[in-house]
Amino acid sequence: MKKLLLTLLMTSSCAMVFAKSTVDVLATGGTIAGVASSASSTTYKAGSLTAKQIIDAVTGLDNLANIKYEQIYNKDSGDVTLSDWVKLAVAVQKAADNSNVDGIVITHGTDTMEETSYFLDLVVKTKKPVVLVGSMRPATAISSDGPLNLYNAVAVAASPKADDKPVMVVMNGDILSGRTATKTNTTSVQTFKDVNYGPIGTVTMGNVAIDPTVIANKNTFPVKISSDTVLPNVAILYGYAGVDDNMWNKVLETPGLKGIVIAGAGDGNIPSYEGDFLKKARSMGIVVVRSTRVGSGNVTYDYNDLDTQYDLVDANDLNPQKARVLLMLSLMKTNNSKEIQKYFNTY
Ligand code: ASP
Repeated sequence: MKKLLLTLLMTSSCAMVFAKSTVDVLATGGTIAGVASSASSTTYKAGSLTAKQIIDAVTGLDNLANIKYEQIYNKDSGDVTLSDWVKLAVAVQKAADNSNVDGIVITHGTDTMEETSYFLDLVVKTKKPVVLVGSMRPATAISSDGPLNLYNAVAVAASPKADDKPVMVVMNGDILSGRTATKTNTTSVQTFKDVNYGPIGTVTMGNVAIDPTVIANKNTFPVKISSDTVLPNVAILYGYAGVDDNMWNKVLETPGLKGIVIAGAGDGNIPSYEGDFLKKARSMGIVVVRSTRVGSGNVTYDYNDLDTQYDLVDANDLNPQKARVLLMLSLMKTNNSKEIQKYFNTY
């Protein structure tokens, strides 16, 4: 186990021998497990290789840690469902509760990694490192980024420096908070960024540096996930000039809809002619959160009087896809907009 002093050899000088950490790699698919017909093809099938195959491809991984692995599912992350999130959260919590495991790495597609990372950050209760990793180029590509990303992710998960931190995303040498990491480029290997606050650390060929002042994982969000959890249905509506009122109203007919996140223009702005839509949604008990399509910055509370006028929730610094995750989990506790606003101010 990590940090466990195994032997203290008394010689002319003292030599301390530490045991290797054990890292559990939970594989879910993505481009890191992707296979193309040629090394330069842009067409490939994500989620083709198994956990064992992607681990075996990384030279020296077993020098960093003892590696365990599990295949949770194997798919393109664009196909991940809410029940897949539940299954993964249960598996991560189980690994975290295993006293023989020191850190957890989740291999994942990059397209929806930012949602999974925030979801796990909210629901998994542990002080052990939990790290998500993927790649932008499939395993068969020229200069695939997967092997080094996985090597670095295991180094972070095995490092005592990563204890008691938020769930992390490790990509292309950056260590990012899973709450705020977002995919910013369609194809570049330097795609994951924290657009508001920057990375919390770096990892270079397995050498881990993490800002020691980064706050500990609060582990306090009041929702636990079990295998029978059903996550509430929350939609995202995109704001643009000339929003089609009929289209937005049609969304209210979605069976079981419990919440809506609006990716508003600018500071979470919503067309004034959508007032009736907002009133109707609220009268149906649907909680509406104002986020922004801008890509960085906070949404200002009560911009244009929208929150008090229509009893809306402001998303704080969460982009629409992350605001959806928090709204889903908040709705498992309450549908009171004031209580939900407190969650958005805190988590
Ligand atoms: N479509 C892939 C996925 O999200 C993209 C990637 O992993 O980079 O699974």
